[in-house]
Amino acid sequence: MDIKKRNQQFLSELDNNKELKATRDSLVKVQHPSLIVVCCSDSRVVPEKILSCSLGEIFVIRTAGNVINEGELASISYAIEHLHINHILIMGHTHCGAIHSVIHNEGFLYSDPIAKRIKHNILDIEDEKTASEVNASKEVEYLKEKFPDYQGTIEYKIYDIETSILY
Ligand SMILES: [Zn+2]
Repeated sequence: MDIKKRNQQFLSELDNNKELKATRDSLVKVQHPSLIVVCCSDSRVVPEKILSCSLGEIFVIRTAGNVINEGELASISYAIEHLHINHILIMGHTHCGAIHSVIHNEGFLYSDPIAKRIKHNILDIEDEKTASEVNASKEVEYLKEKFPDYQGTIEYKIYDIETSILY
């Protein structure tokens, strides 16, 4: 990928879209996102596109398998306490490579924290779709345990890669 060229395309978009440029300018010193999204790093699962979001709307944490380990928890904690976001969405998805690799015991260099977390969540489930759902729902439960005083909504949804429907 030609990084510089892609950025140039975005700069051209800003030049041609007054609303987008105004949004960008209004966000220079502050951000007020209304949703925290924890989703997979999978290149097909792009929360800004899936939820039709512009700059500044969602606070996104991406990790293979949309699991919450130490760094992810710290990011969420920041978003709750500092940005006062009252809605958290764990976005799992179908055809997840991380879930697949855990079910089929495929280890990767440095993948242990993620694999352990997924295994802890899905136990011996072998159906990948069910495993994605359980994995996401367990992270919802985990966040509810970690932030017992949180007044906002914590939920999960699954993005279907084949239909683009979030259910
Ligand atoms: Zn995935």
